[in-house]
Amino acid sequence: MSTKVVVPRKKRLSEGLTVTQKVFIRSRNGGATKIIREHYLRNDIPCLSKSCTKCQSIVVPDAKNELPKFILSENPQVIANIGKHYVVVDTNIVLLAIDLLENISCFFDVIVPQIVLDEVRNRSYPVYTRLRTLCRDSDDTKRFIVFHNEFNEKTFVDRLPDETINDRNDRAIRKTCEWYAQHLKDYGINIVLVTNDRLNREAVKKESKEQGYFTKSLYEYADLLSNADEIKELIPNVDNYAESKELLPEDKSEVVFPEYYQTSRVMGGLRSGVLYQGNVQISEYNFLEGSVSLPRFSKPVLIVGQKNLNRAFNGDQVVVELLPESEWKAPSSLTLDSEHFDINDNPDGQGEEDEFNRNGAEAVISDKQRRLLAKEAINAQKSKKVQPTAKIVSITRRSWRQYVGQIAPSSVDDKTNGIQNVFVILMDKCLPKIRIRTRRAQELLGKRIVISVDSWPENYKYPLGHFVRDLGDVESTQAETEALLLEHDVEYRPFSKKVLECLPSEGHNWKAPVKLDDPEEISKDPLLPKRQDLRDKLICSIDPPGCVDIDDALHAKKLPNGNWEVGVHIADVTHFVKTGTALDAEGASRGTSVYLVDKRIDMLPMLLGTDLCSLKPYVDRFAFSVLWELDDNADIVNVNFTKSVIKSREAFSYEQAQLRIDDPNQTDELTLGMRALLQLSIKLKQKRLDAGALNLASPEVKVHMDSETADPGEVEIKKLLATNSLVEEFMLLANISVARKIYDAFPQTAMLRRHAASPSTNFEVLNEMLQKRKNMHISLESSKALADSLDRCIDPEDAYFNTLVRIMSTRCMMAAQYFFSGAYSYPDFRHYGLAVDIYTHFTSPIRRYCDVVAHRQLAGAIGYEPLSLDHRDKHKMDMICRNINRKHRNAQFAGRASIEYYVGQVMRNNESIETGYVIKVFNNGIVVLVPKFGVEGLIRIENLTDSAEDAVFDELEFKLSFKPKTGDKVRDVHVFEKVDVQVRSVLDPITSKRKAELLLV
Ligand SMILES: [Zn+2]
Repeated sequence: MSTKVVVPRKKRLSEGLTVTQKVFIRSRNGGATKIIREHYLRNDIPCLSKSCTKCQSIVVPDAKNELPKFILSENPQVIANIGKHYVVVDTNIVLLAIDLLENISCFFDVIVPQIVLDEVRNRSYPVYTRLRTLCRDSDDTKRFIVFHNEFNEKTFVDRLPDETINDRNDRAIRKTCEWYAQHLKDYGINIVLVTNDRLNREAVKKESKEQGYFTKSLYEYADLLSNADEIKELIPNVDNYAESKELLPEDKSEVVFPEYYQTSRVMGGLRSGVLYQGNVQISEYNFLEGSVSLPRFSKPVLIVGQKNLNRAFNGDQVVVELLPESEWKAPSSLTLDSEHFDINDNPDGQGEEDEFNRNGAEAVISDKQRRLLAKEAINAQKSKKVQPTAKIVSITRRSWRQYVGQIAPSSVDDKTNGIQNVFVILMDKCLPKIRIRTRRAQELLGKRIVISVDSWPENYKYPLGHFVRDLGDVESTQAETEALLLEHDVEYRPFSKKVLECLPSEGHNWKAPVKLDDPEEISKDPLLPKRQDLRDKLICSIDPPGCVDIDDALHAKKLPNGNWEVGVHIADVTHFVKTGTALDAEGASRGTSVYLVDKRIDMLPMLLGTDLCSLKPYVDRFAFSVLWELDDNADIVNVNFTKSVIKSREAFSYEQAQLRIDDPNQTDELTLGMRALLQLSIKLKQKRLDAGALNLASPEVKVHMDSETADPGEVEIKKLLATNSLVEEFMLLANISVARKIYDAFPQTAMLRRHAASPSTNFEVLNEMLQKRKNMHISLESSKALADSLDRCIDPEDAYFNTLVRIMSTRCMMAAQYFFSGAYSYPDFRHYGLAVDIYTHFTSPIRRYCDVVAHRQLAGAIGYEPLSLDHRDKHKMDMICRNINRKHRNAQFAGRASIEYYVGQVMRNNESIETGYVIKVFNNGIVVLVPKFGVEGLIRIENLTDSAEDAVFDELEFKLSFKPKTGDKVRDVHVFEKVDVQVRSVLDPITSKRKAELLLV
């Protein structure tokens, strides 16, 4: 959504000025809605400089009754020719050089005008959160502040007739600088506006003749610092090239990529329906093939080849145009990865690539023809093989972030010690290599390094980036762990002081009140009397062994009427995490805890997660309880929700709980309760399965760590016990009950989770394979039909086959997602996998932010505490949902990557022959899954045979035939085939990545 300020006007109000803005919000279908916004101009916005004696008297407390903190130093950094100074940055500097802003050896006392913060938010959300973190956590070292220039009557500027938004915003930033310079003149503090925009710098000279403040480009500014050499090395590439005049060898004759369409053409095309917008997904098997899912088309539209991908990165938001029908094709049956592609390219040159210029001639077609083409494309998707293809004509949002990679040794000139261009190969194989300039190339060889991408001009074959920092040696545990956290955008730095300040001052000595009616306790917590005392209930928790963040506990008790009272008690996290606090903001931003093999990165500080909130045994803890009356058939007679105080009697592991339940000698009440829970859970599960809940599978493995050396020992596949299922069923039941309750109370903004049915096209290939090879079929008519058909996929010869089909089916399914209820209509709330009409996450608030919101909404729904506006506002809920969906996905990937890394380390010392299954057949290789390690790997044709050119790929039979390296008889390999593979782990010499290498034996 983009907003556009059209006509700002001012009028005077009693307390200050107010500005009326007509804001047009473009809706998805291209129409526009007009919204009138008013905002007040104020005269009480302070400069936040500790030197200033004027502002201390004008400040007023904010909504939380806190006075703003004066952060900017009285003794800021001194630089040559300028002296003591504060820095003001513009939007482009933030987008370009956020790494430098975060760097602890430069950029102190920085003023971020609010307009810059707003612009950054619109341009790049990840950079925005980093900037917010910088400003929010600003401690005594960096000292960043946001100055609300748009609300200050001294710095607000009107848009002039014929002035573009950009020009107006630039002027607003200059106005801010001017005001600061004037305001701080008496204290001997200068203002330096750092901007790379030459026009902006020239405008400053024109406007303020007496040079009230200074303007510098990033390069010029860095040059003034005492550690200039160190900092200049870190300056993003574009600037480097432009300012240092050390340009790359020029080759203007060859323009490699097509130019992007102008904005007006893109807007027009989107409106008239001849261009389409979506996110590009690069194939994990072929980095030169992407696809874009578009609402109008039943299948994603293919984008094939470098030229059509036109510099898009995986995940970019792009605009595409369909190609003529003659260029439509089937998805590639080739596999191709970026890391081994063109490894001999010269990082100094532009390189030539025939493929680029082959389909250069562009047919000229009219919009009418394009619309016909779209119809044709939709029809073509209904048939099987050929698919519409498209080219990318514009990139509307870059997914660029920091990337981890390593310098390609072949690109380093070891004879030079000066600055040179080298390639960095990224860990993400869907991405191209990046060209950086550095003088440390040799020193950085063999290290994992972090780089940022700066630009990708059309006449460069590879994007330009710059070095950010090095993480350490390849394959050192620390470097690899940090690399994978960075790669998956997991916030892993320690919690800031501001966040920790929100924790209870008693620390580990915090205790739940002995009596809930104690007046002294009530004076501290007025909500205390609303809590129910459940300390008499025989509650226990059941978790994986060694679990320290205990989110949930349960109990069951026979009622006089023969029914069961069942309680699910969830850690009362929101008693400690209040909306609007730094602690809450941090949790919202992290979104989830991340579990790696040897490390856990918490969403909330340890004090809460593993102590005060954790429902540990033998101590009183606050909880949020769901209490049902269930009949013998596990049907709900009624349900109640209450904040409570509980005392867990025991913390069991799944195994211990199982032993206790199975032991006939145990007849105490706690055990009886657990047995009842088990019986009820079996009935609940059966009901779910009858309703069509899916039993999916993923090859989950567990790595045993040697507790002494922290070296990975062996790998095992996770086993499930009946007690796993016991806990799971009651958590599902609680989540469903809570979902209904909060949806009832907040029909527009309830925090929910949905799982859409997969379009049958997702299963097309799998079904063709099953049909051809096994004469089986997966039905997609309903979740029940799907579940039943999965049950029928059985190979009597091979018990694992069914699991294999479930693993492959899971990959065809849509991912479940968090959403707020106003975003969908009720039928679309459905959770397909669980076969329920409504669902949420409530049971793990220590480690998931969705649950935190659900807790607050439930507290609002039962009248415990009014619900904060943040969770009643659709726009805010939308932001929360987007973020937690992304974080949740990243956390899963990070967890898997961690297992993969450790499995690689385990295999390092064990070469073995294992059973594998062929899950994909390409023209030039096969993909084999090895259940024992949960790894899969590509076996390239060159590793299968010495005569690759004689290999025959049968697309219809999913078969690859070749003459093995040993023996003369031609071997056929098809999909689903059970094969013996030699597994060993190898370090790829080009990428320095350790991978499972599989060889057919
Ligand atoms: Zn001041």
